[in-house]
Amino acid sequence: MSREAKKYDAVNLGQGFPDFSTPEDIKQKAIEAIAADHNQYAVTWGVKGFRDAIAEKTKSFLGLDVDPESEITVTCGSTEGMIATMMACVDPGDEVIVFDPYYENYRPDAILSDAVPRHVPLHRTQNGYIFDRDELRAAFNKKTKAIIICNPNNPTGKVFTREELEFIAELCREFDALCFTDEIYEHIIYANDGVPAPSHISMATLPGMRERTVVVNSLSKTYSVTGWRVGYVIAPSDLTLGIRKVHDFLTVGAANPLQHAGAYAMSLPQSYYDELQREYQKKRDFIVPVLRKAGFDCDYPEGAYYVMADISRFGFTNDVEFTRHLIQNIGVAVVPVSAFYTNPADGSQTVRFCFCKKDETLAAAAERLRKLTA
Ligand code: PLP
Repeated sequence: MSREAKKYDAVNLGQGFPDFSTPEDIKQKAIEAIAADHNQYAVTWGVKGFRDAIAEKTKSFLGLDVDPESEITVTCGSTEGMIATMMACVDPGDEVIVFDPYYENYRPDAILSDAVPRHVPLHRTQNGYIFDRDELRAAFNKKTKAIIICNPNNPTGKVFTREELEFIAELCREFDALCFTDEIYEHIIYANDGVPAPSHISMATLPGMRERTVVVNSLSKTYSVTGWRVGYVIAPSDLTLGIRKVHDFLTVGAANPLQHAGAYAMSLPQSYYDELQREYQKKRDFIVPVLRKAGFDCDYPEGAYYVMADISRFGFTNDVEFTRHLIQNIGVAVVPVSAFYTNPADGSQTVRFCFCKKDETLAAAAERLRKLTA
């Protein structure tokens, strides 16, 4: 869709990358690291200063004690973090539970690891996207090796409540399963109707879950550096041993100078994260009313930077056809949500708008969407 957006000069609200600048100080640290000749292979599991900074930030933000020597692996983005985790922890024939719709890599990651993905639906309700507890329980069995949770969630914008996480944790303990959590939107959670944004809850902080949780995270979204490809995995030391081996064979290591800059980014004060939250809150609160006015049926996301928008009112056969119309005739690019479902028909009347864009980009999209007729 990014290619199509270019071809038709459409405003690109498709793929999840910011079109605004990375903070100057973070860029400067990367330049300095290259100038200081941090340009050769780093230790395969990550530059020590970066791992130390990750451990410190994890302690201050989540209250979790993590040993940077034995429990952190630096990877090429969370994308590599997740596949390295799956390949290390899952055996052929094991089952991995994935909520539907899902961030598009999880199912292929499971298949590449010779695992069997088992999907459990997230249902859209008046209270946001929720899972049915009986459906989730029914998906767990003797073969279940892990469940993947993306929290805050792409594409639905769901933020799992403590009660939901506790229910999942209980099932993991009962069935001796692991939990792989993708927490790359941990700092992007919204306030609603005057209620302040809830704090991020990591599954690893729940009782009995530290030893069975693998946290996958990344610099991409929090520091607006999706092209740097620097992520990290926090896991108990026995799992980390396997994850590091797979990581070494997959990529050897992430970019050395960018890890040095990452150490700086991780040490930024709370005010940096507060500002990030405020900026995204403003963008979310701008785009949702625009979409509703244009005829989409959509809710305010609780976290991350996407809006799921129902297109039924426009009368198109499916989301791909509608997306082509939107790009070619209206000049706005989005992602057809069928791409996020095991059964594409489930997403065939929904598209995803991404709003991690400059205010003027969002304003330009709003202007173009006025031409859309429901
Ligand atoms: N996980 C989720 C839920 C995402 O939305 C994305 C990118 O959009 C990624 C992982 C990929 O992140 P990274 O750049 O860290 O590989």
